[in-house]
Amino acid sequence: MKYNPRVNEVVSRIEGIADAHPYRPESLAQGCLQIMKLLSDCLLEITGMDAITLQPAAGAHGEFTGILLARAYHESKGNARKKILIPDSAHGTNPATAAAAGYQVANLKSNAQGMVDIAELERMVDEDTAALMLTNPSTIGVFESEIHKIADILHAKGALLYMDGANMNALVGKVRPGDFGADVMHLNLHKTFSTPHGGGGPGSGPVACKKILEPFLPTPVLTARADGSLGFDYDRPQSVGRVRMFYGNFGMFVRALAYILANGPDGLRQTTEDAVLNANYVRAKLESTFELPFKTQTLHEVVFSDRLQARNGVKTGDMGKRLIDYGFHAYTVSFPMIVPGAMMIEPTESESREELDLLIDALKQIAREAVENPELVQTAPHSTRVRRMDETAAARKPVLRWKGPAENVLVDSAAKDW
Ligand SMILES: *Cc1c(COP(=O)(O)O)cnc(C)c1O
Repeated sequence: MKYNPRVNEVVSRIEGIADAHPYRPESLAQGCLQIMKLLSDCLLEITGMDAITLQPAAGAHGEFTGILLARAYHESKGNARKKILIPDSAHGTNPATAAAAGYQVANLKSNAQGMVDIAELERMVDEDTAALMLTNPSTIGVFESEIHKIADILHAKGALLYMDGANMNALVGKVRPGDFGADVMHLNLHKTFSTPHGGGGPGSGPVACKKILEPFLPTPVLTARADGSLGFDYDRPQSVGRVRMFYGNFGMFVRALAYILANGPDGLRQTTEDAVLNANYVRAKLESTFELPFKTQTLHEVVFSDRLQARNGVKTGDMGKRLIDYGFHAYTVSFPMIVPGAMMIEPTESESREELDLLIDALKQIAREAVENPELVQTAPHSTRVRRMDETAAARKPVLRWKGPAENVLVDSAAKDW
């Protein structure tokens, strides 16, 4: 998890920013509009795109908005097209987005390096393909080495390249999606630009696009008026319409801009390099302990599998829970789906070498326990007040309202009458 600098919080609480009302007239909100304009300009520079909306409230919401732009674009050309290609390594929100936007999802198999299989892509793209939704680097941290070719194959058939920008922490200051052929993408300010991630948000998932998609951006669109002031343009006949009340999660814009300006171009590039270095340090230290299913060079994250430990009945979820006993938040468990028993570690740039070493030592120790005393790991955590949840009941019969202590202490209590 990326560190959320305190200065972001200080800046977002400045009077005039924190208490700005969304109904405030434009003429009295010029400072806030300038924050949005400056953030938009920075994000366009970072992504190499031409136009942007800050409205979407999260990554998944950004995806949906971006695919609506693609749909409106194809409809404006008289061919709505039917399907969207999605690699099998994709985040679950990608197929969900495509389906929610009314498309058929076509599953694109990855090759042995975990990249898009070019021959398979060429076979699948046709005049009915609206877009490929591609996460680059992918969810196993692999950069698509043939990204230009992928974009060319799509464009030759009139299809668009949607870039899921959730992994931009591996690219900022190094490469720009707009330069490698992406037509539309979302950013997760809460993943890449240090706005808070936890507790259900609020997140922010701006969508940036090329000129050809600009007419379809959600309204209102932030524009500069002839007199130099900023205002909102509602007169966009081809717009997909509003996707969020008011203008998006403004407090997140302030935090992301504070982070970008505090780092500057050199700082952002350094951040990317440190995030990649950290992930590769973890990889090098642990690859003799855990199976590494894809040996391809990786960027900001590394994905191991539990295959060696599973021989003793110890699964990724068990080791993740055991990490709690060692004082660490678990890595991402069981995802991505192309790696059975996945253990995904994304340290980001925020952790020091000392902290990484502690994590590495803990994981090595857990791997030893998996051999010597598997039950210790299988029954973890041991140090917490609440031990193992009934995960089936948590999914099937979630307790979402506070009903008083007796019913809320454990999900287990809900499991009894399930
Ligand atoms: C996190 C993530 C998303 C979804 O973003 P949210 O902000 O959680 O909605 C989409 N794609 C990828 C690859 C992600 O990692």
